[in-house]
Amino acid sequence: MYEAERSRLVNGLRDNGYVTDERVLAAMEKVPRHEFIPAELRDQAYADSPLPIGMGQTISAPHMVGIMMQALELRPGHKVLEIGAGSGYHAALMGEMVRPGGMVYTVERLEPLGAKAAEAIERLHYDDVVKVIVADGSSGLAEHAPYDRITVAAAAPGVPRPLEEQLADGGRMLVPVGGQGYQDLMLVTRHGDKMERTGLGGVVFVPLIGEHGY
Ligand code: SAH
Repeated sequence: MYEAERSRLVNGLRDNGYVTDERVLAAMEKVPRHEFIPAELRDQAYADSPLPIGMGQTISAPHMVGIMMQALELRPGHKVLEIGAGSGYHAALMGEMVRPGGMVYTVERLEPLGAKAAEAIERLHYDDVVKVIVADGSSGLAEHAPYDRITVAAAAPGVPRPLEEQLADGGRMLVPVGGQGYQDLMLVTRHGDKMERTGLGGVVFVPLIGEHGY
């Protein structure tokens, strides 16, 4: 179901230049976004826009997810930490990209959303490569650190210090930093104890709520 709509969306992301990495586009072609959103919104699953997923939260627009995955440079075997599982869609896409041998740990603070995400992950057979954890992820997830890649799907007032500490040497992290309403998507690259920060442009994310968030 929805294969034609999904292909049209992915071709659009390629044609308008948002996403050039063919591995990212292949993952987006494969993962059924409509399986991660509320049933009554499924017909809108392949429009390039964010959608509500309940409890005041949203699944990001496909172009934003594509841009983030491309900037992360995910490779097979990577250990990834995501803060803000939401629907679980982005985690499933990252699971595609780190197979074989990799693992995605995705943390969600709202239990009902975490439970729904875990259910979709299992139904679509990503549970071998994606684990959903219900917790405050603003302090990261120390038990599986260090991570080759970290991605934060909610806006933080600054780069949370525990996340920098849990990033592996040579690792890459994405985190939207700024006020509630508008943020700069920061790419943090770790070189030893040095953190290189590059702003990738303006974005709008829901707030990161927790000890190292708002
Ligand atoms: N990546 C998601 C979209 C996430 S929206 C997807 O593909 O659907 C951001 C999510 O971050 C929301 O579900 C919100 O509840 C969650 N969140 C906010 N603060 C958090 C925190 N401190 N720890 C974990 N999750 C958090």
